[in-house]
Amino acid sequence: MKKTFDLICSVRELTSIFNTKTNVGGLLNIVVKLVAKHMQTTACSIFLYKETTEELVLRATAGLNSDFVGKIRLKTGEGVTGRCLKEMRPVNIPRGAEDPSFKHIPGWDEEQYNSILAVPILYQSKILGVLVLEDPTPDYYDNHDIKSLQAITSQLATFLENASSLIQLDKNAGKNKKRNNKSRKNYYKGTSVSEGIAIGNALFLSSANDDVFLTTRNLNYIETIDSFDKALESSIDQLEKLQATMDENLSEAGSLIFASHLLMLSDDNFSGSIRKYIKAGDNPSVSIKRVVNEYIELFMNSQNLTVQEKILDLKDLGHRLLRNLTEDETEEGDYTGQIIIAKELMPSELVKLAAQHTEGFILLGSGSTSHISILAKSLDVPVIFLNDSDFFKSTENDLIIIDAYQSIVIVEPNTELIEKYLTNLKHIKEKNTEKPEILEKAVTIDGRKIKIQANINILSDTTAAKEFKTEGVGLYRSEFLFLIRNNFPSEEEQYIIYRRLLERMEDVVFRTLDIGGDKILGPASTMEQNPFMGLRGIRYSLRNPDIFSVQIRSLLRAGVGFNLKILFPLITGIEDFREAVKIVKQSINDLIDEGIECATQPEIGVMIELPSAVMLIDELAEEADFLSIGTNDLVQYILGIDRNNEQISDLYIPHHPSVLRAVSKISEAAVKHNCPLSVCGNAAADPDMLEYFIGLGISTFSTNHSMIQFMRRQINEMNYSHAKYFAKKSLSARTVKDIQDLIAKKRV
Ligand code: PEP
Ligand code: MG
Repeated sequence: MKKTFDLICSVRELTSIFNTKTNVGGLLNIVVKLVAKHMQTTACSIFLYKETTEELVLRATAGLNSDFVGKIRLKTGEGVTGRCLKEMRPVNIPRGAEDPSFKHIPGWDEEQYNSILAVPILYQSKILGVLVLEDPTPDYYDNHDIKSLQAITSQLATFLENASSLIQLDKNAGKNKKRNNKSRKNYYKGTSVSEGIAIGNALFLSSANDDVFLTTRNLNYIETIDSFDKALESSIDQLEKLQATMDENLSEAGSLIFASHLLMLSDDNFSGSIRKYIKAGDNPSVSIKRVVNEYIELFMNSQNLTVQEKILDLKDLGHRLLRNLTEDETEEGDYTGQIIIAKELMPSELVKLAAQHTEGFILLGSGSTSHISILAKSLDVPVIFLNDSDFFKSTENDLIIIDAYQSIVIVEPNTELIEKYLTNLKHIKEKNTEKPEILEKAVTIDGRKIKIQANINILSDTTAAKEFKTEGVGLYRSEFLFLIRNNFPSEEEQYIIYRRLLERMEDVVFRTLDIGGDKILGPASTMEQNPFMGLRGIRYSLRNPDIFSVQIRSLLRAGVGFNLKILFPLITGIEDFREAVKIVKQSINDLIDEGIECATQPEIGVMIELPSAVMLIDELAEEADFLSIGTNDLVQYILGIDRNNEQISDLYIPHHPSVLRAVSKISEAAVKHNCPLSVCGNAAADPDMLEYFIGLGISTFSTNHSMIQFMRRQINEMNYSHAKYFAKKSLSARTVKDIQDLIAKKRV
């Protein structure tokens, strides 16, 4: 007997489709299985419409013979599926084989199924294909099923539309191959770390053979000494303007983000050497390239790491000079219309390149650095990591589409695809200007009020947080202020940013510097064998008391007139907590002695991210003013699974019984010691985990702004009494499978 089921797939399920590394066919196979599971039916097939031949082609099936994929082709009106296409409405057949529209296809074995339900897949009122469900039970589908299947189909429409285009593209790729005699792919699957769509020309900042040197590009340079002088002047002008806007839009970057660029430009040795070559008869473009590359070589040979880290700045500057040397009057010298391809970038580099209007980034590797992903999301720029050497056969200036919603990169797309993406881009832009309807409250059906706060990485995140009317900031990741600059901001510089944040948002929890692990601060980084087990979080701060006290002093000064909350990351136990508190107290005394106004009673909290902190939770809850569970790290350290390692991401299981029990222990201790508790890791945005946390009694969560609405919606549809029951049941589970069964049962 069929029970009731979810009307739609969860966001998590849908995104998990895109994160699978496979081809389009593989993705469609996942989709049919997912739909069959949701609809509790035996078979599910997808037929996509092929415009050129005006027929439906079977593209994936679960429950029927997959050898027929690509082979079954149905004309309008042919069989139940073709009838659905013709009538453009759902067709529900209770006894398939007996129905006059049923079409027998030898070997396809469809006769084993009695019930057939076919619904059209529509995308922006265009027919994309037909989704067909089949089951042996006669008269299996009712009106509720039809509505559910339509809901699922509309959820999948965007994905299927892209899949359909890509199937087409693969064919075109074959044709291009013959014509161009190039043995490279047009379509690459990567790992998206920041969503969005970008279209532009490829610009390689690092190439496959790791070439760091600047190359001249196929542009129309004006090769006179005057044009060089003009290019130099324009570059200074543009960079100064950029610097000023950066000050406004990304104050963390401070006034020095383009300092090394400007310094080089005003250095007579640099511009003088270029002029010297020009006077000796070289073209300006060649001279720029030559001098920039001489400097790159010099920087590369330097023993000083900070100097080495300026190589990308030099190359960036070279690009600007060269672009300003072209005839193009509208040239801004920036990366408008370009997609940057590089090895993994430092956050400070990403910030600089994004500020110069780069459309999107393709980075080499597996995307193992979470700070790049966090920062790219905050900067709202699409980024995909690719680990495919074939991609580097693409050449500079090739047209590239980044679809970071589906983690794909398309090289030299056909006109149809370009148009499609340009339209998508337009829709996205229009949508972004629309004011979304804000769900302001998060209260369960039976009246339990839940507080949703924002995780903030850079000041500009506060705009979205305010728009979504969050109840404060549960986690300010102060390390981004350091990472963006790739150095240590002074007390005054930090004070300005912290004060601005407090003035913009109510109730801010400042997490102290959390570097180490994968968040490496250029000049401070020492090579560690095992960085996640190394000098990270509070350990780094305690080993570097000068850096730590500067941060604490600026926080205390900024906190005057506010209820200042300071949170320590990666606390192991009582010793490191007390040691950190001692530095706060010492800083208060110092500031008072110096006659500097400061907050004298900050609330001090502990992040619970390590198993050791869970074991000592009673003591920590007793001594701390508040606790915050960082599930991203807690799961990693309890399970011993790297949170960024794609290869073992299936083992990173937030709903593992060990994690659930740890969280329950934390929550009990918080209640016992009357210590406020919140959850600020990503697990809070997982609907099942959220219900578990709420069922335990936790009522404050902090999350990325993109998840705020989603979480509120989940909560508004939740029943606190059910959540309590679910949490209780989950706690008695012995295995991951037990929990998964409980979750599955909850959905039915
Ligand atoms: C966490 O570990 O869950 C957390 C919120 O901190 P971060 O992701 O910055 O390590
Ligand atoms: Mg953490």
